[in-house]
Amino acid sequence: MRFWIAPHLAFLVQWLRVLGVNVQLWDRRVILGQEEEAVVQWDRYPLPLEGIRINPITLSTPTQEALLKEFFELSGLQPGLEQMFKRCLRCNSLLIPITHEDAKQKWPDIPEYVLQTQKHFNWCNHCRKVYWAGTHVRNMIRTLEGWGVISNPKKSENFF
Ligand SMILES: [Zn+2]
Repeated sequence: MRFWIAPHLAFLVQWLRVLGVNVQLWDRRVILGQEEEAVVQWDRYPLPLEGIRINPITLSTPTQEALLKEFFELSGLQPGLEQMFKRCLRCNSLLIPITHEDAKQKWPDIPEYVLQTQKHFNWCNHCRKVYWAGTHVRNMIRTLEGWGVISNPKKSENFF
């Protein structure tokens, strides 16, 4: 299922990709109407969807964290650690797990301390970017737990 996110909700795109949701920013040139797609809009800025045969998901809460929780309630998706960090934050492509050696070859700019401390790397075939589970990943997990979007603190301690 792919979700087209209204421009006024663009600040949710990165978080939803972190959470493994297939999301793209909507613009009016996008041709919609496929069953496996939905538009996500904010009630205060409704999109001009007349004539487009698609059921919009309309969020109505005021804050980033409430909107994320509301998205999962209304979409029926279940957020969780298992789905997280599987998509490129830049382009939405599914990431490909690669070996330590591959990461080094594909991205010569990876700092030495990262190579020494990280075991798992993911690769975006489209952006040619390598991802690893640094402190930013742990910070994002903590933030999402703090907001109550995901919950499983015991497991997240051992996530990487
Ligand atoms: Zn990418």
